[in-house]
Amino acid sequence: MALPALPQARHLATEIPGPRSRELMARKQHAVARGVGTTMPVFAARAGGGVVEDVDGNILIDLGSGIAVTTVGISAPRVVEAVREQAEAFTHTCFMVTPYEGYVAVAEQLNRLTPGAHEKRSVLFNSGAEAVENAVKIARAYTGRPAVVAFDHAYHGRTNLTMALTAKSMPYKHGFGPFAAEVYRAPLSYPFRDDLDGPAAARRAIDTIEKQVGRPAAVVIEPIQGEGGFIVPAPGFLPALAEWCRANEVVFVADEVQTGFARTGALFASEHEGVVPDLVVSAKGIADGLPLSAVTGRAEIMDAAHAGGLGGTYGGNPLACAAALATIETIERENLVERAREIERLMKDRLLRLQEKDDRIGDVRGRGAMVAVELVRPGTNEPDAALAKAVSAAAHARGVIVLTCGTHGNVLRFLPPLAISDELLEDALDVLWEGLSSHE
Ligand SMILES: *Cc1c(COP(=O)(O)O)cnc(C)c1O
Repeated sequence: MALPALPQARHLATEIPGPRSRELMARKQHAVARGVGTTMPVFAARAGGGVVEDVDGNILIDLGSGIAVTTVGISAPRVVEAVREQAEAFTHTCFMVTPYEGYVAVAEQLNRLTPGAHEKRSVLFNSGAEAVENAVKIARAYTGRPAVVAFDHAYHGRTNLTMALTAKSMPYKHGFGPFAAEVYRAPLSYPFRDDLDGPAAARRAIDTIEKQVGRPAAVVIEPIQGEGGFIVPAPGFLPALAEWCRANEVVFVADEVQTGFARTGALFASEHEGVVPDLVVSAKGIADGLPLSAVTGRAEIMDAAHAGGLGGTYGGNPLACAAALATIETIERENLVERAREIERLMKDRLLRLQEKDDRIGDVRGRGAMVAVELVRPGTNEPDAALAKAVSAAAHARGVIVLTCGTHGNVLRFLPPLAISDELLEDALDVLWEGLSSHE
């Protein structure tokens, strides 16, 4: 039986959180480990398009996409249909036991869609962190070298190796060490907070790598940083770094877990500057919420790992593969790369006009449907995390799901699903502005 269509408009039926959510939150506190936090104290009942309906009947505007995952829209129709059909055929056989076509088809699509026309191979996993770890394994197998370079403000996940690659201590690493060895950190290009152009920032990073590491196996970088604050490096930074990697036979790994799959107004964010990574890591937006991740890259690098060296029980689960194929079809048929660019224009236009009226908006940045504002104390670039917290809390209370990020916690980030309507976006931005302007 089909549920009635979910209205695409913000609606508050109760206060936030409502009574059902408060009950469930009390159960959560007794049943779920404290380490798993939640952005909002409301429980979801259903979701679709650009909204999430909670268990009290409140309809919230979704500016988070479950952290950049449901890019094509939560429960996108093609995905629902494909997953249903696959579930009826088989839910699991393990690709390493009796393989199935869906896995191969996803690998073919990734090889086709990722930057560069060279021969490629792909391998599938469950989570972003797992894929980043495997990219490092592959780079080490190929180069025979141990060292890996990551950057300031980087976020690569919560497993032991990816905690080591991640920059921020609290909450991701604090108390969880010791961390994996042979991980080194280089300075990023952060245009709002340094005055280096892209090539100069790249020289600074390369100098650090050459002096402190020598020749690593891999340089791992997010083309636009996600959790670190939606930091878009200055033009020329990524190409110079990729060029240095090529010249030194260092594997250039683009962690496109958050930026991939149309999110930034290109299928992969590396494309904005014509960068062709040796390995691309995908996850989040790849399968509309089913757990799937991948490493895709140059055939000779990917095939350096011996047979049996890569894999996992669930990696490339058939339901997730069916979802990924339907997600890719949806992106292409509905021209969602272009839709992400439209969303960028709409959001940046509004946010830049707000910035003229309010000097606490220090920076407006991002690409596509991955846009952020960095909040500062008036007339300075001192981070104002308390303000970001207050504005997001005000938005939550009025039915807008919005996330914060950044090393200093002072960045409001917007990751709407590409299925969201302009009206919902405008309404959400009105709510945010009211929250900001009412807070002195
Ligand atoms: C979310 C994220 C990860 C980790 O992905 P999980 O699926 O949570 O393990 C890695 N890299 C980046 C850039 C991310 O945004």
